[in-house]
Amino acid sequence: MRLRNVRGSKDVIASCPFVVQEPESCRGRWAEIFGNENPIHIEVGMGKGRFIIDMAKLHPEINYIGIEKYSSVLVRAIEKQTIEQLPNLVFIRMDAEAIENVFEKDEVAYIYLNFSDPWPKDRHARRRLTSVQFLNRYVNFLAADGGLTFKTDNRPLFDFSLEQVELAGWEMVNYTFDLHHSEYAEGNVMTEYEEKFSAMGNPICRMVIKPPKKK
Ligand code: SAM
Repeated sequence: MRLRNVRGSKDVIASCPFVVQEPESCRGRWAEIFGNENPIHIEVGMGKGRFIIDMAKLHPEINYIGIEKYSSVLVRAIEKQTIEQLPNLVFIRMDAEAIENVFEKDEVAYIYLNFSDPWPKDRHARRRLTSVQFLNRYVNFLAADGGLTFKTDNRPLFDFSLEQVELAGWEMVNYTFDLHHSEYAEGNVMTEYEEKFSAMGNPICRMVIKPPKKK
């Protein structure tokens, strides 16, 4: 993603009621933060927030948490949520490397990874959000009956992710190399990147996976 430094974004984030400022202090207390026991779904690397905002509107019975590393991107999601005022959506500005510190065992019911950064160099493979290292992190807080959906138009990243899923012992529920022309197309909620890349003619790959069975 091309990043523009958005002036004042850090101040906007610091004073925004939809941004959780000290997410580690919410570990095990997310139901309290939302004021209900509804399931929690997260999007890691949500960008400007189109997908998670549309999901939160469609599913008021689910609580959503959008995680984004960069302030200059997060402010765009904040602008939208300031208009929408959805009570079931909050944001965290953080690098997901530390995501295990934010959620307690079984606290998250579902994870979305949409058009995650590819980190094309081999030596950066562990930074990919679908690497074994990240999949192992998610196991620490994803409910045993939970799941994860990953979408991308980047075929090398998708092929890498298929291998990592197997290595990390996750269960493949289904996958497709062309979501928009597949049996799974109906009900698909588009992300900003998905709209852009599918308009360019790129097929969208998608997988749905489940965490390893706990022994
Ligand atoms: N999910 C959005 C979509 O599909 O339109 C945005 C996709 S964009 C290519 C990837 C986003 O993930 C960027 O905004 C980037 O800053 C964020 N990101 C990448 N690595 C991250 C990490 N380790 N922790 C949090 N956010 C991350």
